[in-house]
Amino acid sequence: EQDDLALLESGEEEVEAPAPAGLPVLAVVGRPNVGKSTLVNRILGRREAVVQDVPGVTRDRVTYPAEWAGRNFTLVDTGGWEVDVAGIDARVAEQAEVAVRMADAVLFVVDATVGPTDTDERVVKLLRRSGKPVVLAANKVDSPMQESDAATLWALGLGEPYAVSALHGRGSGEVLDAAMKVLPEVSQVADAMPRGGPRRVALVGRPNVGKSSLLNSLAGAERVVVHETAGTTRDPVDELIELGGTPWWFVDTAGIRRRVHQTSGADFYASLRTQAALEKAEVAVVLVDASAPMTEQDTRVIQQVIDAGRALVVAYNKWDLMDEDRRPFLEREIEMDLVQIQWAPRVNLSAKTGWHTNRLVRALETSLASWDTRIPTGKLNAFLGELTAAHPHPVRGGKQSRILFATQVSNRPPRFVLFATGFIEAGYRRFVENRLRESFGFTGTPIEISVRVRE
Ligand code: GDP
Ligand code: GDP
Repeated sequence: EQDDLALLESGEEEVEAPAPAGLPVLAVVGRPNVGKSTLVNRILGRREAVVQDVPGVTRDRVTYPAEWAGRNFTLVDTGGWEVDVAGIDARVAEQAEVAVRMADAVLFVVDATVGPTDTDERVVKLLRRSGKPVVLAANKVDSPMQESDAATLWALGLGEPYAVSALHGRGSGEVLDAAMKVLPEVSQVADAMPRGGPRRVALVGRPNVGKSSLLNSLAGAERVVVHETAGTTRDPVDELIELGGTPWWFVDTAGIRRRVHQTSGADFYASLRTQAALEKAEVAVVLVDASAPMTEQDTRVIQQVIDAGRALVVAYNKWDLMDEDRRPFLEREIEMDLVQIQWAPRVNLSAKTGWHTNRLVRALETSLASWDTRIPTGKLNAFLGELTAAHPHPVRGGKQSRILFATQVSNRPPRFVLFATGFIEAGYRRFVENRLRESFGFTGTPIEISVRVRE
């Protein structure tokens, strides 16, 4: 116990965050079919069978935790995005732009057997403009005889083309080593999120739920603030909108205003855009269409917000389409749909008529306050002491794990570490989470609980 107390008193700095934010981000970009997915699978150590040869398959993830040569980083995979051949050029550039914005470095994949194309040139321009470090992978160099194919890619002006065969693994170590050299230790992108100044909101949701309508309604109803607010660097894709007397940044609004047409890749693009917006936001408003049943895509967006560790508000839009008779049933339906996120504030509104849109501010403020919350260690342990005395961890195999103490290692979102004498079951961890929420609120923020076992 002596030991535990010493650790407890040594303060929060001694404890490493369980899921450190700020891992550097590497984005893999390039035209369709150059082998991005194959390369990503190789980096992640997935079996080749995972590569989808079926066009238009929707991936539900965009970012993956990855490791190379002992370095942890986040990999942005744009490989699942299949597009129709028409307009391919603009789409590839658009996709690359979103991916590059959220990345610290870029792995640009080109098909060496084809050589540089106009689309490749266009992406190169964009990469240059971004100022981010780029490593060029000349893919499909399956044998030494094809090395000369790779050499033609010097013409792109991105420096040395690394000859790779994503399919066979040839050269993939070298290109990754090169990527690790240019990847910073800590993400500059995540750190670029300004502290202080107006708070940053992302409007997210599947296509057609009413994001652009809501944005227009909010921007129109209230005075749009034009002056530069001190201490903020303005990204042209963000808009400053005054709500309830306070300015708010609505991030990545360009992606909302520039509507993406329905193509086979639109789902994936939407999910990539959501991810990019979440990186920059502190709180997300997930729009759901109240006039239609909830879909898997809605659930996926909500999960993306939780995984990104952002504060959450759920907005049921198109309430004006609601039939009075349906209302009682709908309430119950919504409760069931949202059972996993009962902790999130919900606003019913209509972007079209403006009804209840003014209620968003209160919900945003509530969620952000929870997201910012820090519970003093003493208070947290007093709570846990009472809780574990009344409801001890179940005995398993004659042993009983005990939680010795806990500390909140960070906020935004709140993260906790429980120090225990043995394994803590997932069910018990959920129980602790629920009780934490009952006692301390946390309305509208995901919270993370991890366990350290002390022998
Ligand atoms: P993406 O659209 O850029 O993600 O490309 P994929 O990874 O789906 O690959 C497109 C096609 O190229 C698939 O049929 C892959 O098997 C093939 N491919 C990928 N890498 C290589 C490679 O290094 N050599 C050869 N010969 N084929 C490859
Ligand atoms: P986004 O793809 O999420 O940006 O969705 P949009 O804002 O473009 O809206 C998709 C469609 O839903 C458009 O036809 C809108 O006019 C309509 N819409 C959006 N909000 C509402 C609403 O509150 N009520 C009704 N009746 N229609 C809406």
